[in-house]
Amino acid sequence: MNAKLWIHNQSVDALCGETLDTPNPATGERLATLARGKREDVDRAVASAKSAFPAWSRLDPNERQRILWRAGELVLAHLPELARLESLDTGKPIANATAIDVPRTADTFFYFAGWATKLTGDTIPVRGPILNYTLREPLGVIAAIIPWNFPLLLAARKLAPALAVGNTVVLKPPEEASLSSLRLAEILAEAGLPPGVLNVVTGLGEEAGAALVDHVDVAKVSFTGGTDTGRIIMRAAAGTLKKLSLELGGKSPNIVFADADVDLAAKSAVSAVFYNQGQLCTAGSRLLVQRSVLDQVVETVVAGTNALVLGDPLDPKTQMGPLVSAAHRDRVVSYIGKGNEEGADRRTGGGAVGPGYYVEPTVFSGVTAEMAIAREEIFGPVLSILPFDDVEQVAQIADATEFGLAAGIWTRDIGKAHALAARIRAGTVWINTYNRFDAASPYGGYKQSGFGRENGRAVLEELTQIKSVWVNLG
Ligand code: NAD
Repeated sequence: MNAKLWIHNQSVDALCGETLDTPNPATGERLATLARGKREDVDRAVASAKSAFPAWSRLDPNERQRILWRAGELVLAHLPELARLESLDTGKPIANATAIDVPRTADTFFYFAGWATKLTGDTIPVRGPILNYTLREPLGVIAAIIPWNFPLLLAARKLAPALAVGNTVVLKPPEEASLSSLRLAEILAEAGLPPGVLNVVTGLGEEAGAALVDHVDVAKVSFTGGTDTGRIIMRAAAGTLKKLSLELGGKSPNIVFADADVDLAAKSAVSAVFYNQGQLCTAGSRLLVQRSVLDQVVETVVAGTNALVLGDPLDPKTQMGPLVSAAHRDRVVSYIGKGNEEGADRRTGGGAVGPGYYVEPTVFSGVTAEMAIAREEIFGPVLSILPFDDVEQVAQIADATEFGLAAGIWTRDIGKAHALAARIRAGTVWINTYNRFDAASPYGGYKQSGFGRENGRAVLEELTQIKSVWVNLG
């Protein structure tokens, strides 16, 4: 499979003529050859997006709504093809891509299509014979930079709201998994997106990504990825005073009280951490369990983990596929080594299995809050189980990392659940459930999990600016 850049609704080679190979994570064999976009390609893409901005931003909003709605319909019409592509490129089980990634991508276009015609300003009672009103206007060219764990869905999360309110976009997909972004761009063109409104530059983060971040004609960078990359981007964006939103890493606590439906909580904890091979920014990777039910929870979690079906991502029965790359597998395995060295009790899993980049789902109990496996984001199938005694103590443990992306609380005591939900410093809290998302509900991080919100009405504030207009009525 050969993939090119997508500029002005056309597939083109990188100007340098260079390419990058990406492997099939299930076999390690070459899957695709991507164009290696660099600064000069980013210049072309941004120029195209800038040239398209005046007409797109002034287009009748009903027309923007119609195009985005049509995009959602076309995504659904191509569901099997997109699910297969995403599964091949990332290693995620096709059952998940079919049930979640592709339908939620379509939902995102449907939801934001509606906002194209619903964004309004205010009229403001000011002093004097004056009519004062506000216009909510698009920013211009948005750089959307995304990671490899949910490339199609995360592309949609950035594109749909940005386009709905009249921005144009240059998308930088992850070098590990760019194919669904390129296919989505073709689908959007088929839906009626004019040339230049969306451009896709594949390539490396430190080349194509970095060139976007310091480009003078890019108004905003909307980034999802690692916390360290977020820091680099924030520094680089200072040169041109760009607006930023950063969706970064997590080390989310999933808290089980003794008064919960303990069996349900423990069974859910398995998918909370191992969904998508644990490559989920909100993975419930720290399971905090009240001491009196610790043994019961550990036993159920280990049994549930051992029952997970590892296999070929394209087999509909597979529940866990390989990790995305050899380098990422090695990083995850090194964390399992750290857990062993730090004296945590490994209850199941523990190693890489090949061919392909598979890692056994691994559970540690006897973990303490100081251990690296309890503090650092592993972004793979590794669960750390920590005991706690009371609400006060668990509130402190929950907050004891630099991250603040999400948290789960399992209890039948409604008052305790709401009180703790208010206290936890995280952008999302799930009570008696985990990993729920909806295009309508705001999503983002506290602390070093980033800032800015995606989804819901909240993201529209981040993709528009307010103009105050004063009319003399005197
Ligand atoms: P990453 O930060 O390495 O890469 C993400 C993207 O940034 C890629 O497209 C990459 O090419 C690009 N990039 C890298 N260096 C860059 C630079 N200097 N300038 C501009 N762009 C650059 O992350 P990853 O390994 O692809 O993804 C895993 C991380 O993403 C995890 O930390 C995970 O928690 C995070 N993540 C967060 C969310 C969220 O919503 N908060 C969602 C998914 C993943």
